[in-house]
Amino acid sequence: MVKYQDIKSLTSDELKKWLRESGEKSFRAEQIQNWLFRGQVKSYDEMLNVPPSTRDQLAAAFRIHSLTEADCSESSDGTLKWLFRTADGHHIETVMIPANDRFSVCVSTQIGCAMNCAFCRTAKMGFTRNLEAGEILEQIIRVNWHLKTLSEDAPEVTNIIFMGMGEPLMNLENVHRTCCTLHNQKLFNMGRKRMTVSTSGVVPRIKELVDRNTPCCLAVSLNGTNDEMRSRLMPVNKTWNLEALLAATDEYTRRTDNYVTFEFVLIKDITCTEQAAKELVRIAAPRRCKINAIVLNDSSDAELQPPEAEEIDRFLEIVRAAKIQITLRNPRGRDILAACGQLAYQQRKVEHADTKSA
Ligand code: SAH
Repeated sequence: MVKYQDIKSLTSDELKKWLRESGEKSFRAEQIQNWLFRGQVKSYDEMLNVPPSTRDQLAAAFRIHSLTEADCSESSDGTLKWLFRTADGHHIETVMIPANDRFSVCVSTQIGCAMNCAFCRTAKMGFTRNLEAGEILEQIIRVNWHLKTLSEDAPEVTNIIFMGMGEPLMNLENVHRTCCTLHNQKLFNMGRKRMTVSTSGVVPRIKELVDRNTPCCLAVSLNGTNDEMRSRLMPVNKTWNLEALLAATDEYTRRTDNYVTFEFVLIKDITCTEQAAKELVRIAAPRRCKINAIVLNDSSDAELQPPEAEEIDRFLEIVRAAKIQITLRNPRGRDILAACGQLAYQQRKVEHADTKSA
């Protein structure tokens, strides 16, 4: 493991406490966080109003960066995908999706994932560890650095979706910290509606998200309209079934007065059938919710296939006829394996091939 923490992971209270205990002035916390999150500086030396001795102390105690860029690929549709290497030598992926005046960043929250959903490539990596808040924030900062290289007065990232590698609610503490830093008016100043945390359905953590008042919107990967279908695709359903999940989302809606977005992956003969469409209507009709349908992206599982265009149309027709709000998501970045469920680090295979050829 890495031997010291990323300074961006600290809350302002934690940074103040550290400064006091190190014989420094606690008001410097605000200056430092300004440089980190508004200035988005690349080194402690750039913190001009912080005395050099304080900068030295900080540098000895905290990493200012945790990621290095290992690769960046661009899709024909303008989507960019970065491969970042963590300080302890693991890899994560981050995707930036430009659309009109929006720049959305899809961040990873864990190295790998333990949820083991049948249709997702990240699942095949297994789980290594949670990302620190600083590592999640740095993904966004690095995308901003990239945008700045395109033009001097480039806009910054506008929306964050927690839909990259990992299950955000299994790393709730650090996801909460990340959202608070993003939401903080003095730092990123990002509105609650511009951040969406997506979960496979970790029911008790949905309640915790509400209890903590984490500044974000909630998306739930439904992907199944009955327990048999959902458990086959998502093992998490064997622990918290559909009834428990829907009770949690109902509570979320009641307590936050916000709707839930249900994501729904369309899989041939499994989730994209007339019966599933009717069951989806039964789930959605009594609820304040929106549905994002996503056609299955190549999941490297031969048993799961995307539906034909006519099957998709039929499915949408049934749901729309019931006046349910459903949007078919346009897949972005498929050609560079940046679309939903395609993020996975594959160097091990390459290394293996190298060893063989050597
Ligand atoms: N663990 C979180 C966030 C990561 S997955 C979650 O489950 O919500 C982000 C979204 O991608 C989820 O809605 C998931 O259902 C979807 N997804 C995963 N694999 C996919 C695939 N092969 N094709 C299309 N969507 C996929």
